[in-house]
Amino acid sequence: MFMKLVIRRRRTPEGNIKFNINDNTVYADVDDGVDVQDVKKCIKDNLKWFTDRIHESKPTEALECDSRLAQFFSGKKTFICGELLDVLPYSDKKSALLDNVLYINEKKFADKTERIAEIKRFILRLAREFLSKEISSVGTRMALCPSKIVIKALKQDQWLLCGNNTNPTVCIDYRAIQLPSHLRRYIIVHSFAHFYESVHNYRFWQIVRQYTSDYTKCLNDLANFSYIKEI
Ligand SMILES: [Zn+2]
Repeated sequence: MFMKLVIRRRRTPEGNIKFNINDNTVYADVDDGVDVQDVKKCIKDNLKWFTDRIHESKPTEALECDSRLAQFFSGKKTFICGELLDVLPYSDKKSALLDNVLYINEKKFADKTERIAEIKRFILRLAREFLSKEISSVGTRMALCPSKIVIKALKQDQWLLCGNNTNPTVCIDYRAIQLPSHLRRYIIVHSFAHFYESVHNYRFWQIVRQYTSDYTKCLNDLANFSYIKEI
């Protein structure tokens, strides 16, 4: 089967991939967070739909696929420390992370709203346990000690609350635990750098640079993970 694949980046509801075929060209409308391998996998999984339509000249109805991102938005997958893990039901009441799978109670799993709420509760517990340790560890490296650590839900565009030297508090969004390690580190270092400088001036970024590998890359990577906060 010969076909040309054109990927169009646009906002799609809940990360779905929407396929249209025209003149032997497959147009895939995908969200920014969906990668090309995901698109190819959806084509492979629905190959018959494509082969049935590829030689028809008239436009056909669209095909919508659940991308991994869509599964994330429906609570069938979740990010933990940058890895996209399966969420599966089991009979125990308490949610648990076992062999890179998040298991949640089958009754909560059965309903999408309940399922997502339980995933969020689990992520918050995980964040309060592990992010606090990471914050302390980065603080030790920077020879800084916060007066208070707050891990909670922040606004959509915030991963942390920028502090100042009179109020040495580290306040980070709990969903930071879902990010890869270099981004968690950047967020923590950014928080601590405000203990020296209240504003984002040259000296502030110099401090950040001293403790993170490449902060401009971190800022770009962080933008690619912004949908984590939409759930
Ligand atoms: Zn800041």
